[in-house]
Amino acid sequence: MAVNSEFRQARWGEPLIFELGAEGRRGYIPPPAEREIVDEVGDVLEEVPPALRRSEPPALPQLSEPEVLRHYLRLSQMNYCVDLGLYPLGSCTMKYNPRISETLVKHPGLTAVHPYQDPETVQGLLEILYKLERWLAEITGMDAVCLQPSAGAHGELLGVLLMRAYHKHRGELGQRVEIIVPDSAHGTNPASAAMAGFRVVVVPSNEEGCVDLEALKAAVSKKTAGLMLTNPNTLGIFESRIVEIAEVIHDAGGLLYYDGANLNAILGKARPGDMGFDIVHINLHKTFGTPHGGGGPGAGPVGVIEELEKFLPVPRIVYDGERYTLDYDRPHSIGKIRSFYGNVSVLVKAYIYILSLGPEGLKEAAEVSVLNANYLMRKLQRLRGFELPYTPERPRKHEFVLSAKPMKKEAGITALEVAKALLDCGIHAPTIYFPLIVDEALMIEPTESYGLEELEGMVKAMENISRQAYATPDKLKQAPSNTSVGRLDEVKASHPRTMALSWRMHTKRTKNTK
Ligand SMILES: *Cc1c(COP(=O)(O)O)cnc(C)c1O
Repeated sequence: MAVNSEFRQARWGEPLIFELGAEGRRGYIPPPAEREIVDEVGDVLEEVPPALRRSEPPALPQLSEPEVLRHYLRLSQMNYCVDLGLYPLGSCTMKYNPRISETLVKHPGLTAVHPYQDPETVQGLLEILYKLERWLAEITGMDAVCLQPSAGAHGELLGVLLMRAYHKHRGELGQRVEIIVPDSAHGTNPASAAMAGFRVVVVPSNEEGCVDLEALKAAVSKKTAGLMLTNPNTLGIFESRIVEIAEVIHDAGGLLYYDGANLNAILGKARPGDMGFDIVHINLHKTFGTPHGGGGPGAGPVGVIEELEKFLPVPRIVYDGERYTLDYDRPHSIGKIRSFYGNVSVLVKAYIYILSLGPEGLKEAAEVSVLNANYLMRKLQRLRGFELPYTPERPRKHEFVLSAKPMKKEAGITALEVAKALLDCGIHAPTIYFPLIVDEALMIEPTESYGLEELEGMVKAMENISRQAYATPDKLKQAPSNTSVGRLDEVKASHPRTMALSWRMHTKRTKNTK
């Protein structure tokens, strides 16, 4: 398919910005009025005691405006992004982020407010946040929502801290020291449980890729604080015995935590609250129209059942039918999990996303994302070298996990090599080697953002890769060659001793090696 085979990424021998420009070059010279302000700031700085002042100005690069523009444009041409093409990164839900949200959040009414401003002066913003809380509660089937957490893992931490508060309140914290996590869980689940001081008990999946109910019953005891579960799970399979699972945990006195990082498959279709979950986190930056990746701002709101509401962080936004106020006077609250109200721009984007799609639109997004995943799965599972582990006849939800185990055995081509070869076709690599229960895993999530032609483009690319794997495996091992950077040394590329993440680190390194 032409879209893929012609893919070439730009290659610029681009220096670091610190290596560009020259002393005295400026990108922007303020007009006289602004210069006065700059001078005023300068006057104020004069009053800072000398001991607290820098002896030298910071070593910033000095460039003209066009130099800066060209530098970043070149870098962007060597990059790949969700706006460029397929980005089927399973579990990460890389979907189209509507431009209308990006435009609207730049409104000065949002960008120019200060978190310490009197709530009376930000009634509109509080209304948005309050309504978003209500909508997320409705979507997840929870009673109350806290918008503070900045990410999925942060929401998980809040969730398990709420479990702690709940068991402490009941005088059982000393006894309830274990959190059960299935072996298909996202790595953040056991990490969050451990951070909150719990011991992690792993339960295996059965041959259907679901929680093994017998193993779960055996793992549950008076020590159980709760269970953390993803449903549909990371294999894209819906845990159809969820009501029984919930009963087992509740009967033992534990709580059910729902990892709702990927809510895409069930939007408007099914609600964790109705399945028996007590606590839910949602990744707004995956499901609700906010860009993510590269550590950019996200949001991981947490929803809870009524019984847990009193433990939620302060402040709570309260509405008396006329005015919105902030309530800090909540004696059972666990305190704060973050400064102020959360990443407000991300929250507002989610509000815009939900408002613009409406209930029917959200439902349709879920339907198309599931349709796309299953369409792609049926086409790819037939290709030589791949197999679909765990009940291959059963449909999946928003994502599926293909295994390249036969290809590795027969042709020596691994999931990593398949992923690298996809880069050459202008397709972002899927998530690989996760979940851990699948050998040579390729976790693929096309989302609702792509049409039939683009999905077919990926099928074509995978067909070619499958053919090459058996015909010219040595050539395939050289991929990628159409990208601006070839194959990286996987060890060096992730080792803190070889990575220089800042200019300061870089200069220190090069000085030391001289
Ligand atoms: C992404 C993800 C998380 C963690 O979310 P972050 O925002 O990256 O912290 C947790 N669970 C699942 C299933 C995820 O896909």
